[in-house]
Amino acid sequence: VSEPGLIQQANLTAAALLSVARGALVGKLFSQFICREDQELYYRHRQQLFGSKQPQAYDLRLLKPDGTIVWAHLAATVAPDAGGEPVGRVTLSDISGRKQAEEAVRDGEVLLRAITDTARDAVVMINPQGLITYWNPAAEELFGYPKPEALGQNLHQLLAPARYHAAHRAGFASFIRSGQGGAVNRTLGLEACHRDGHEIPVEMSLSAFLQQDGWHAAAILRDITARQRAEAELQETNRRLAEATAHAHDLASRAESATAAKGEFLANMSHEIRTPLNGVIGMTGLLLDTPLDPEQRRYAEAVRSSGEALLGLINDILDFSKIEAGKLDLETLDFELLSLLDDLTAALAVRAHEKGLELLCGVDPAVPTRLRGDPGRLRQILNNLAGNAVKFTSAGEVAIRASLIEEAGSDVLLRFAVRDTGIGIPADKLGLIFGKFTQVDASITRQYGGSGLGLAISKQLAELMGGQIGVESVEGQGSEFWFTVRLSRQAGEAPAADRPAADLRGVRALLVDDSATARELLTTRLAAWGLRPVAVPDGPSALQALAQALAQHDPFRLALIDLEMPGMDGETLGRALRADPRLADTRMVLLTSLGRHGDTRRFQELGFAAHATKPLRHEELRAMLSLVLKERHEATPAPMVTRHTAPETVNRFADRQARILVAEDNIVNQLVVLGMLKKMGLSADAVANGAEALKALESVPYDLVLMDIQMPEMGGIEATRRLRQPESAVLNPRIPVIALTANAMQGDREHYLAVGMNDHVAKPVSRQALAEALERWLPPTAAADPRDQVGAHVEP
Ligand code: ADP
Repeated sequence: VSEPGLIQQANLTAAALLSVARGALVGKLFSQFICREDQELYYRHRQQLFGSKQPQAYDLRLLKPDGTIVWAHLAATVAPDAGGEPVGRVTLSDISGRKQAEEAVRDGEVLLRAITDTARDAVVMINPQGLITYWNPAAEELFGYPKPEALGQNLHQLLAPARYHAAHRAGFASFIRSGQGGAVNRTLGLEACHRDGHEIPVEMSLSAFLQQDGWHAAAILRDITARQRAEAELQETNRRLAEATAHAHDLASRAESATAAKGEFLANMSHEIRTPLNGVIGMTGLLLDTPLDPEQRRYAEAVRSSGEALLGLINDILDFSKIEAGKLDLETLDFELLSLLDDLTAALAVRAHEKGLELLCGVDPAVPTRLRGDPGRLRQILNNLAGNAVKFTSAGEVAIRASLIEEAGSDVLLRFAVRDTGIGIPADKLGLIFGKFTQVDASITRQYGGSGLGLAISKQLAELMGGQIGVESVEGQGSEFWFTVRLSRQAGEAPAADRPAADLRGVRALLVDDSATARELLTTRLAAWGLRPVAVPDGPSALQALAQALAQHDPFRLALIDLEMPGMDGETLGRALRADPRLADTRMVLLTSLGRHGDTRRFQELGFAAHATKPLRHEELRAMLSLVLKERHEATPAPMVTRHTAPETVNRFADRQARILVAEDNIVNQLVVLGMLKKMGLSADAVANGAEALKALESVPYDLVLMDIQMPEMGGIEATRRLRQPESAVLNPRIPVIALTANAMQGDREHYLAVGMNDHVAKPVSRQALAEALERWLPPTAAADPRDQVGAHVEP
């Protein structure tokens, strides 16, 4: 290139670089191939080249004729030509690759800056000496140092609290060392100092990178005050939660063990109390069998009845705690509702008649009587309600009624109501009496006795059986307690007692009773059996009805006459009836309350064909009516029909003078069996488990044991096994043992016999089955004893 800048010569490489034909280059101005931005640079260097004769080297942009730009490195020297004129010798090399890379780095830096400038974390870089080389706006904000103040400072000196200086230096050095060989990233939590001196908890991520002058580091620092606070709060919350959970666990386990302890205590206590109490009751029974003068007998009887009351209370408490603990299981057994109600009323009758109360029981004909459910618990509720009714009534009547509420398939919902004409319950107390240990009036209760648990237990039981309980009452007039229970109907045909009877069908019967309830209930029953009953309230209207029937040529074949009526009583009416020869064909049945059996002969002389004692058992009354009607056709006058005439179990074993022990944990089943035994003329005591049975057998000379299989503490199997052992302390290890069991399967029977039991009666215990088993196993009739006669006449 000449001094004025004209190209004098060019090689092929130059021509290619500029994309111009070599020949076309010569004579052109070199500046023509230089980008406008670099023209000044070029002129400056050309002046220097030709002026100082010094070589020049620099980068510039070339401009091709098509307008594209190429980065090139230019190296120029100057030397005189042949004519002595200075000529510049220019070497161009293509450096577009390097320039691109440099641009990329610059772009990267711009991008990095854009990122770090807007980052919310502080970004700081340090050089190998630990001096700050980069400090972003977030760092300014976080630490309070403006960028100019921070740059060039030692990072540790600037930010680390003095107490950490040494440690940080060492840590940084080791970090740098460990970073050699690759980029290492590490995150750590530490404290940093703000410019104003306060400390900030930060999390720092550190990464090392190697540059020409050594290892640099980039630190990203984040303020974690809020996070630490949140974490601390979370931890605190967690701690409190854990504490609360532990507390709850503690409470629960304490409550559980308290409940368990309570249950165990009750079980133990009741066992400890019952065992000696059974001794008292059993021995008093023995004492009552010995010759005593009337005063001694009264005392002994008081001891026995107090003992029995105490035993009942303990059983109630135990029952209640069992229900509360959810440990009461219902049984599912086949049972007969009419027998259950008959047994129940028979058991209550003694007390009712002692108080001069009429005790009545009626079952709506729609009610299915062959049922499946828990007869023991059903009876327990009825017993509680009817027992209360008798207890709180001094005059009038107590009526038990059963009716059907709904029925779906074999499921039935039955309603039982017990109505009395007693003291009633004040309206404001009605809501309370189903609570435990609540009584309307403590002073009244002192007079009547009771624990206040009966209704609470009844409510729980009714609810367990899928029903409800309730009461309506008018103070001073009486109460009606009712409850419902779900039961199921047994499959198969109804038994005879439940069906209209062929021999009674169409028979016209007159019922004379002053009690409206009694008339209603008995009429329903007679109608259900197929009779045509007419009920009247007194003697005069009875005579009127009888005369009217004669006139209609449809005489009454039966007249059921209540003995105790105001005005003309049953006896007078009977006399009047018999005095009328037109009524000779009307058979008279006398209905009396308990305790009037001694007059049988007198009533027979008066012309009564039969004598039924209230409450009237369903099957007994039916059998009696059939018998009375049959005799009408027989020539010879038959002996008077009483309840004892029916194929019955009444007083059947009275002459055996045997003493029976009943081991049964269910208090109601106990009462049922005791009641049946008493009726059969047997003395019996009850205990609630096998252990108590063994104790009792050690002290009282029983003749036979009725042993439930499943009992708490010690079941019947274990108790029998023990008493059969020769070394056992019972008075008679060979005593007959009859199992009372709900699961009457063949295999079970063999199992019972194998452990030493003699026989087995299925639950619910029927009087017939019990009588048959007793017949097989009771010792034969004892020698005649005057007391047997007495026993035979005691009304069951
Ligand atoms: P208790 O063992 O005291 O009879 P219950 O729970 O059976 O306990 O009865 C609670 C209370 O309800 C009784 O004490 C009595 O005040 C009242 N009560 C229950 N039944 C009757 C009733 N038929 N007539 C009047 N009051 C009754």
